[in-house]
Amino acid sequence: MKRARILPILLAFVCVLWPSVVRSQRADPPFDFYARGPYRESIPRPRQILGYDVGDFHTNYAMMERVIGAIAAAAPDRVRVLDIGLTNEHRMMHLVVISAPENIAQLERIKADIARLADPRKISREEAERIIATRPAIVWLAYTIHGNESASFEAMMQVVYQLAASNEPATLDILRNLVVLIVTGENPDGHERFVTWYNSVAIGDPEPTAAEHREPWSVWGRVNHYRFDLNRDNLASTQIETRHLQRAYLEWNPQVVVDHHGQPSQFFFPPAALPINPNLPTEQVGKWLTMFGRANASAFDAQRWDYYVRDVFDLFYPGYWDSWPSLNGAIGMTYETDGGGWKGLRWKRDDETIVTLRSAIAKHFIASMMTLETTARHREARLRDYYEFRRSAIEEGKTGPMRRFVILPGNDPGRAAELVDVLLRAGIEVARADEPFRATRAHAYAADGDAPMTKQFPAGAYIVDLAQPQKRLAKALLEPETPLDRAFVAEQLARFRRNERRGKNAPKEEYGFYDITAWSLPLAFGVEAYWTEDAAPVASTPLALPRGEESSIAPAGSVTGRASVAYLIPYESNGAASLIARLLQEDYKLAVATRTLNAGGRDWPRGTVVVRVSRNPDSIHERIAQLARETGAQVYAVNSGFAENGDTGIGSETVVSLKRPRIVVIADEPVNQTSYGALWWTLDRYGVEFTPMTIDGLKRAELDRYNVIILPDGSPSRYFAAFGRDGVEMLRGWAQRGGTLVCIKGAAVFAALKDVNLTSSRLVGSEEEEREEEEEEAEEKPQPTPTPAEAPKKPAKTQTASAEQGRAEQTEKMEGAPPILPPIASPSAKPGRVPEAVPGAIMRATIDRTTPLTYGYEMDTLPVLIESAYFFRPSKGGVNAVIFSPDEKQRLHVAGFIWPDNTEKLLRGAAYVIDEPTGRGHVILYAEDPNFRGFWRATTRLFFNSFLFQAVL
Ligand SMILES: [Zn+2]
Repeated sequence: MKRARILPILLAFVCVLWPSVVRSQRADPPFDFYARGPYRESIPRPRQILGYDVGDFHTNYAMMERVIGAIAAAAPDRVRVLDIGLTNEHRMMHLVVISAPENIAQLERIKADIARLADPRKISREEAERIIATRPAIVWLAYTIHGNESASFEAMMQVVYQLAASNEPATLDILRNLVVLIVTGENPDGHERFVTWYNSVAIGDPEPTAAEHREPWSVWGRVNHYRFDLNRDNLASTQIETRHLQRAYLEWNPQVVVDHHGQPSQFFFPPAALPINPNLPTEQVGKWLTMFGRANASAFDAQRWDYYVRDVFDLFYPGYWDSWPSLNGAIGMTYETDGGGWKGLRWKRDDETIVTLRSAIAKHFIASMMTLETTARHREARLRDYYEFRRSAIEEGKTGPMRRFVILPGNDPGRAAELVDVLLRAGIEVARADEPFRATRAHAYAADGDAPMTKQFPAGAYIVDLAQPQKRLAKALLEPETPLDRAFVAEQLARFRRNERRGKNAPKEEYGFYDITAWSLPLAFGVEAYWTEDAAPVASTPLALPRGEESSIAPAGSVTGRASVAYLIPYESNGAASLIARLLQEDYKLAVATRTLNAGGRDWPRGTVVVRVSRNPDSIHERIAQLARETGAQVYAVNSGFAENGDTGIGSETVVSLKRPRIVVIADEPVNQTSYGALWWTLDRYGVEFTPMTIDGLKRAELDRYNVIILPDGSPSRYFAAFGRDGVEMLRGWAQRGGTLVCIKGAAVFAALKDVNLTSSRLVGSEEEEREEEEEEAEEKPQPTPTPAEAPKKPAKTQTASAEQGRAEQTEKMEGAPPILPPIASPSAKPGRVPEAVPGAIMRATIDRTTPLTYGYEMDTLPVLIESAYFFRPSKGGVNAVIFSPDEKQRLHVAGFIWPDNTEKLLRGAAYVIDEPTGRGHVILYAEDPNFRGFWRATTRLFFNSFLFQAVL
């Protein structure tokens, strides 16, 4: 009592004496998580199990499992814990089901009824109304998809406790009206990296420059084990976590979804910003987002908490955990709290107030609870609109201009099957045609023009009819292009024009693009596909994924028999690339036909790989058969070396031995983690061995034991700083002795810096390009002394940003999206000569079919993703294997947003893949990431060629 009276007096004193000190330490007042009782005493509180109060420490996965397990064990009437699958690092993912006892007692029947509501073809309207009137709505609350957004993880435990333990009337209302599904962690592996590191170094220092606010490269918990951003992966479900979550999601068919993130400057909740995916019924979505937004706002206003709506968080790219559920008929929302994560236990804002982990947890807790209350209050309306969404989707599919997608297995049936797998995993109905059929108004994806044609399709073609409840998602994933909102586009163009008028030192306005603007899966996978305006009946068999973790409808590969002379591996499929790599790694002897090969009575294209029986041990027969099955590759046995015609047979001089690739991949600062991750995952998937190395490690390694070094995408200037001049000379010397240096995107820009000069290519619009042009123009004049090349400019944002904004790089907005890179512009460059960064569009590239770098690509053009301002002038001394046609008659733009009078104009004649011969070796540049997010499969072999065929480059 005494102390209580003295303390305020003391504090008042302190305030007078050191007002600035006190102000600078002002933190949000502690929030009481146990104010919404009465609570059932038998249910343990998280702190009883953890031994600390929520927000005082970061909870690891195993401790969280103990909390959830203890609560579930004490509240079997309300709680069920379902295991939904293991992560790459063997952590079990959980779905906690919480509802009123009477609902828990009949969960299976509720689930079945909601599934019927989700497919209006199967029930009458009366039946639908009965379900709407009597069944609870399903709400999916998911936490910590970005593992280092830690407030979300802690908030989840408090929400579970509140729902399991409280007898507060509002909580009981929630339980009666809803089945609440809680994903305890969407990215357990990333979260574990973050908390293990954070807990081991943190002292709770709020200073933004303190070490505890800087996650090391190898930790970066945002991404999963393979360094994939799981909040982009719903597009093609490449990752195991996404697959588990999609399967669970489609079993329950939720009507409301919240994905909990962190940590911008203030809390964010919807309504979302423009653009919104036009496949969504915007009026219905807008109505609900506003309703939830207003409800959250009233709760936040009552607490006097800051927040914002719209601004940057859009709903366009269909691979987020808000847009993807929305396209399934739920109201999908992203919530971003303001603390935790890289802000740690405490963080000093730019006005010197403190945001704590605990206060950030409180905000997620309140927003989660308010969302549940709002849904409970509007349960019937939400269920009815959900049913209506699914019903009108079918209707639109029957009557809209787009009726059907057709995907052909083609030369790489495995790749087409992988695309179909993506659709099946997303709950989209796909059938396989039992007979040939015809469309009278078909549109080819690859066509340079929009005119419909009559097209005959073979039996075996995959059919996606849009008259299905998942029509909106199917169309969003498959359509060649998704149009952007016009007002949004007009605003970006206005900013572009204003930026053009700004002086060279003035900061530029940022654009509103949050992610790529084109992703059409048939183009990304590089499969032959069509959409049709008609959908005549065709006998077909509906497809389903076989059970099992990695199940696929992909056909197994095979060998046509036991060869006496040679096996031929046509290099048409990604499976063939895997087979070739694996045989080389097992030291089998392989050779490649550098010209059209004649064998076994027919012609095979260049790039066909020959496995001569005479050069290999007897084990080759069994091994190649087994690996063909595993990789899906088709292998042909040949029993005579005699070429019926042409110059090239199995024994010809132009069939050249391949080298076993011995690969190093740089895994360190300054590599872009998602580029490294996509590469890691791709190589793993195809069974290609590699050694990850830091740059320091590389400098000390016996490099001549390796013949390939891959530099993934990363900051060019930081690459230069990390290698230094000695490092660059080391790379050059190693390449000259016969190594193949593969540089991706930012690393390719590094190679093209004048001071690095690993290629004769230069960036379009760069200072270096200008200088070289001037030098050429002034041919007769003496050469000016070269000045050190300027490191690429940093984005204006980072230069001017406060520490807090700088770290905003690691919020959803800035960092999830691979950075949209600024042009490396010459300050003196004239307007219109510098490419403006493209947010992610699909462009048509032209293939040079005379170089081994394009083996396996026997077509003229190829759709590629452009997601930067990195346009490369063709190499003067090397081979420009893939370029953008300088011929104005060919349209370069295929899909997505590009800058008028800039992108296409400056991209013309630029190179996409360059081979720069260097002594006895090569430097190979990829202008963009050929393994983009693991789903850009059209360029997989284009990338593999750089290390599989190094012997013939
Ligand atoms: Zn996030």
